Amino acid sequence: MARILLTATRSFYRPTNANFHYGLLALASYIKKNSGHHVEILDGSIHTYGEYLGLLEQKARSSDIVGFSMMTPQVGDTCRSMLHLRDKGLRPFIVVGGHHVTLYPGQTVQSDLIDFAVAGDGEKSLLALCNALDSGGSTDNIANVLTRSNATEMLKKPFETLPYEELYDADYGVIDPGIMKAMKKQFCYLTGRGCMFKCTFCYNSAIGNRWRGKTADVVLDEVGRLYEKYRFEKLYFRDEYFFADRDRVARILSGLAVKNYPFTWITTCRASDFRSKIDREIIDLLIASKCEELRFGAESGSDRCLKFLKKGITVEDTLRAARVCAEIGIRGSFSFLSGYPTETSEDRIQTVRLIGKIKKIDKRHIILGPFAYYIYPGGKLYEMIAGNSEWSMKFPESFEGWARSKYGNMFEQQSEPEKFAWLDEPDFVKYFWYIIFFRYIDDHFRGFGCVKSALLKLALSPWLISTRIRWRLLRFGKLYDYRLYEWLDMRRRSVKKHLQSLLKTFK
Ligand code: SF4
Repeated sequence: MARILLTATRSFYRPTNANFHYGLLALASYIKKNSGHHVEILDGSIHTYGEYLGLLEQKARSSDIVGFSMMTPQVGDTCRSMLHLRDKGLRPFIVVGGHHVTLYPGQTVQSDLIDFAVAGDGEKSLLALCNALDSGGSTDNIANVLTRSNATEMLKKPFETLPYEELYDADYGVIDPGIMKAMKKQFCYLTGRGCMFKCTFCYNSAIGNRWRGKTADVVLDEVGRLYEKYRFEKLYFRDEYFFADRDRVARILSGLAVKNYPFTWITTCRASDFRSKIDREIIDLLIASKCEELRFGAESGSDRCLKFLKKGITVEDTLRAARVCAEIGIRGSFSFLSGYPTETSEDRIQTVRLIGKIKKIDKRHIILGPFAYYIYPGGKLYEMIAGNSEWSMKFPESFEGWARSKYGNMFEQQSEPEKFAWLDEPDFVKYFWYIIFFRYIDDHFRGFGCVKSALLKLALSPWLISTRIRWRLLRFGKLYDYRLYEWLDMRRRSVKKHLQSLLKTFK
């Protein structure tokens, strides 16, 4: 029996238990169900990075295999965590998987910090690898598993995908009790994987992910059993695209309505579904089954940008979705994206206008973002950036290179837009993000608890009030307060540098 630790470093800058790592749950459940290995999860998203390193070291001491799952922004912390284990003299087998590895399996496995890279669906391959390591068998020819010696051969074959039936029945018993406590309020559950759309900025289109879903009967059976066990208040169908199959959705919703569960539910949706897929029958079922919120990727207020992003929706679709949701008492949550190639200042202003219209339709609708587009490897948008010689963006070619790079840092574009050659007016972009930052504090910030958040808002009230006015009047230029802030920040940095060099001299 092998002792396996599956882990991922933090994916946000502060600990949160709202978004536990579903991929780790799927892997651990599969291994537990199909073998006698001991498997444990360490989810870095609920710890500070310092706490995480301590726990990782402690758990790795009694593990034969440590598997890291990572997206590109997590590569830096993952690499530092591996180095930490080495520094402490710990040498379990190191396996990596997740989105970044699926995009770059060949270059990732060349790192001497890594023993195996698992690309694509990881469940079956990871289990086969653990069995081989446990029994001393060969690891040379396991589907989707790369080593430094077999990488060239393995990359000639397509990665295998699992029949979705093999992934049913996640075992929530492997999740941290702290997360399970939070899940009583909002229980996360997947009815399917992947998405059939081809939005150019999205990971799913980058790896050609297709949609796979559980049948309505399986969903209703699993949800019923989970509710009996965990008695949650709200169910979050955390699919990338819940409404992929209209008839399946109709059967799931009528099943929930017949059972008349006391919990409400929320999920993801596409604004274009309100053209025909979400018809009168589905609307009645949404109400009868207690749908509380639908989450939309609205992305932009410019039809030209939506077309460029291949989003498959229009601005009118988003407004229609906002209106219908308001009429039937469902809260809409609309997220936006900004800072990608070809987007102009006028496009950004159209996005702000659309946000205003959505809020006017129903104050309860939630606006998320706009978030900064950060260059995620893979996909058409990435290829466009990488292939443009005038923009001269050089991307890392190794695991360590990605760990050192700042491409995964979504705040970079906000502070130094001039580094991103496709941004049309860097000054405008800087001011735009500055205003969005204060809008975020104004609308959403509850990070330090109610009293401290209120005090922070009071201290920042001159900025909050002025950004509210600028947002309403669409004034994003000539922010003298921002220039003052920049000047003070520059002075602070040069004084700090000066003091550091003085200290060095005295030492
Ligand atoms: S609809 Fe959503 S999940 Fe699907 S490709 Fe577009 S952004 Fe990705």
